[in-house]
Amino acid sequence: MSTSSATPGNTLFSIRSERALVFASSLVVTAILSIVTFLLIREHTSAQLAATRAATNIVQLIDADVLRNVELYDLSLQGLISTAKRSDLIGVSPAIRHLALFDRATAAPYKGDILLLDRRGDVIADSASVIPRQGNYADREYFRVHLDDPSLGMMISRPFRSRSVAQDWRISFSYRLNDEQGEFMGVAEAGMRLNYFSQLFKSLNIGHGSTVNLISRDGILLAQEPPLADDMIGKDFSNRPNFVRILKEGNGSFTSVSSVDQSTRLYTFSQVGNLPLIVVVALSSQEVFASWKRTALMVSGATGALCIALLWLTWLLRRELRRRHRAERNLAQLASIDALTGLANRRTLDVKLHQEWLRSQRSGQPLSVMMIDADHFKAYNDRHGHQGGDEALRSLAQLIDEHVRRPADLAARYGGEEFAVVVPETTTAGAFTMAQNIRQAVEQLPPPVPGEAPMTVSIGIATWAKGPYSDLEQLLVAADKALYQAKASGRNRVVCAM
Ligand code: GH3
Ligand code: MG
Ligand code: MG
Repeated sequence: MSTSSATPGNTLFSIRSERALVFASSLVVTAILSIVTFLLIREHTSAQLAATRAATNIVQLIDADVLRNVELYDLSLQGLISTAKRSDLIGVSPAIRHLALFDRATAAPYKGDILLLDRRGDVIADSASVIPRQGNYADREYFRVHLDDPSLGMMISRPFRSRSVAQDWRISFSYRLNDEQGEFMGVAEAGMRLNYFSQLFKSLNIGHGSTVNLISRDGILLAQEPPLADDMIGKDFSNRPNFVRILKEGNGSFTSVSSVDQSTRLYTFSQVGNLPLIVVVALSSQEVFASWKRTALMVSGATGALCIALLWLTWLLRRELRRRHRAERNLAQLASIDALTGLANRRTLDVKLHQEWLRSQRSGQPLSVMMIDADHFKAYNDRHGHQGGDEALRSLAQLIDEHVRRPADLAARYGGEEFAVVVPETTTAGAFTMAQNIRQAVEQLPPPVPGEAPMTVSIGIATWAKGPYSDLEQLLVAADKALYQAKASGRNRVVCAM
């Protein structure tokens, strides 16, 4: 081949450095994305944890408040029972007796009435008025339970709607009254209005879209603040999946979609003491993660922009690298070829000769060198001008190149109208045949002006075949001498150095 292409080592280096660049920046982008994702997930978890903790606090607050109230009911019922048994109260006025029976200190704003029932279920004392109301409560569940079971102690009823005008939801606490022989004497009962919870819940600021709920173990919603919709109180939730899960887990928290308004909420819940009541704090996920979402949007936006910028810079750098490598390749190519003929230049020839000389010394294979010189080229120039001379040199170069076919061979412009061909692993005979072919082909070239004598070349060949030359210089001098012999013996011929 005539021209030496870009060195393969350089190309390999450029591919490697490009790959390293792309790999490194992909690695950095992946690392940035992983770190940011990790941090965002951690933030999300801690936002959820903080919300759960806050909700748990609310649940515990309600729990404690309710238990304190139950204790008060217990105390006032115990007081009522022990006072009712006193015989010295029989003679006092109904007003004094009322005062003694119903301890004012326990009068709470949401307390329902406290009643004392006799063994038939008739009201015999009423916290609401000195003259007890007319009524029989023998059909009430708590009355029948106490009648049947002397050992029960305090009974807490299931939530029920009161018979009063307000028809609000209540639960009742009750004790059985026994005489000295342990016989059933009646029941002391206190009602707790569940409105109380609504008031308690109202005082808690839990954020938009979130609710605090009181729900009975039967699945009846007893209080909700703020209400998600009208007519929520008294609704049966016993078949809703969220309630079933709450009932199963007792206390804890989970995130789920509300069956009421289909929005996602973080449910935190606990049974209230040993009452058949469950407090559920349902925090709106949107609210819980609002701040996280803002941060996440900002951080992922910035990260995305950063990564895109990084990838873009990488792309620019890679493009620049490619350009530079291409320019370097072109430069290297330019530096190695002859501008006029496109053959290898003198520099490339020297390198090649040196390489092949060393190789033949190692392998012992023959190395032939041809020196080709245009005959009477000065005259040719004179006839056709320098432009015509250049044109003839280009045709000559192309023709020589066409005869140099093996990959290891090299044709080069030696200088002026002189060319050199390096043919490794070729004997004198082989090189001679090749030279003859070239010489004949040049002769065949059509002259620029018809009828004019054709252009011819003289060729000198020298071959190293384990001798007789001891260095490259001697080989070249021998080839040169052969060329001059060809000139001297009439030109247009091939001479091999002996
Ligand atoms: P000989 O047969 O003995 O080689 O005769 P010659 O005229 O070819 O030899 P000489 O060395 O006296 O002249 C070489 C000429 O080649 C001189 C110069 O004008 C011409 N020449 C050298 N380089 C170039 C070139 O690049 N372009 C052109 N057009 N002519 C060149
Ligand atoms: Mg010459
Ligand atoms: Mg010449």
